[in-house]
Amino acid sequence: MNDIVEKKTKIYLSSPHMGGSEKEFINEAFDTNWIAPLGLNVNNFEKELSDYVGSEGGVCLSSGTAAIHMALKAVGVKTGDLVFCSSLTFSASCNPIIYENAIPVFIDSEKESWNMCPKALEKAFIWAEEEKKLPKAVIVVHLYGQPANMDKILEICNKYNVPIIEDAAESLGAIYKNKQTGTFGEYGIFSFNGNKIITTSGGGMLVSDNLERLEKVRFWSTQARENERHYEHKELGYNYRMSNIVAGIGRGQLRVLEERIERKKWIYDYYKEAFKDIKDIQMQPICDDRKSNYWLSCITLNEKSKIKPLDIIIALEKENIEARNIWKPMHMQPYYKDFKFFKLGEKSISEEIFENGLCLPSDSKNTEEDMERVVKIIRELFE
Ligand SMILES: *Cc1c(COP(=O)(O)O)cnc(C)c1O
Repeated sequence: MNDIVEKKTKIYLSSPHMGGSEKEFINEAFDTNWIAPLGLNVNNFEKELSDYVGSEGGVCLSSGTAAIHMALKAVGVKTGDLVFCSSLTFSASCNPIIYENAIPVFIDSEKESWNMCPKALEKAFIWAEEEKKLPKAVIVVHLYGQPANMDKILEICNKYNVPIIEDAAESLGAIYKNKQTGTFGEYGIFSFNGNKIITTSGGGMLVSDNLERLEKVRFWSTQARENERHYEHKELGYNYRMSNIVAGIGRGQLRVLEERIERKKWIYDYYKEAFKDIKDIQMQPICDDRKSNYWLSCITLNEKSKIKPLDIIIALEKENIEARNIWKPMHMQPYYKDFKFFKLGEKSISEEIFENGLCLPSDSKNTEEDMERVVKIIRELFE
C-alpha cells in the first residue's frame, strides 16, 4: 500500500491576505531603527484608520481584547458594575468585563441581523431600572461583519443615558446608514487578529471622538507611568501598546481593505446563488439598510433538515476545507452560565442560530475553483 496520500490544497475559513505594501512600511521602521517602541507607523496607523472610519482619534493596542478592556476602563466600569453585552459573540467581547470585576448581563439576538435584539435590550433595561442599578455600559457586537440595529439601540441607550462600546472586531469597513461601525458609540474597537478582514498578525485599536479619554488610554496602556524622572505610578498600568513593526503591517493592510470587502461580498453572493434551490439552507440575512463587510459567510439549516451543521463541517474537513460552528452564545458557556440573560420569547434566537448554523470558508484568497469545490461537497450532501 502506498501510504503517501496526496492532500488536497487547503481552503481556509479566513486567513491572512497580504496586499504587498506591508513590507515597505516594515522596512521603513527597520531603516529608521523605529523597531520599538511605538514610532511613526503607530502614529500613522492610528491617524489613517480613524480617518477611514470617521472618528476623531484612535489608539493602537496589542489586541482587540485589550481595546475592549481599555474602553471599559475609559467609561469608568468598576467592581460590581453591570455591563450589558450581546450573547452571540466571541468570548473576548465579555471577558474584559470580568477583568474589571464587573458583572455581565447577556442580551439575545434578533432574527433579522443575528445582532443584539433591541427589544430584549429594552427588557434588560426595565429589569435594571427596577433593581435600581443601571449598567455602566452596553457592548454591542457587529457579528460576522453586519452592523447591528444602531438606530434602535442608540435610542434605548440614550434614553437611559448609558454609553455604548461597539465591538467592531469583525466589522471593519461595514456601514450603517452612511456611517462606519465603531463610530456610533462612545468607543469603538477593532481587531487585527490573524483571521480578521485585515490583520497585523495580532493587534487592535480603540477609536473615539473623546481625545482626552484616548490620551488616558495611552497612559494606562504604557504602564501608567507618571511624568517624573523616576518611575512613579499612581494608577494601575498595562503593557497593551502595539509595536511599530506590527503597525506597519496594518498600514499596508488598510490600503487593500476595500478590495477585501469586495471579495468577501463576492464569496457571500456566490454561496447565495449556489444554494438558492436548496430549501434547507438559508444565508445569514443581511438587512437592506446596512452594508456588511461580509467577513464570514454564514448559513443556517432548517431545524428539520436531515443534514446537520456538523455533517457539513466534517464533510468539508475530509477534503481539507475549513468551516466552523457559529459562536456558542455566552449565556450557554459553562463559565458564564450563572449570569443573567434576556431574551424576548420562550425561545432564544441566539441558541437557535448556534444550533442550526455554521460559517463557510470565506477566505478572500478563494478562487472560483475553490468555491466550486466547497459548493459541490455541500450540494452532494443534500442530494
Ligand atoms: C476577534 C474578536 C475579538 C477579539 O479580538 P483580538 O484581537 O483577538 O483580541 C473581540 N470580539 C469579537 C467579536 C471578535 O471576533
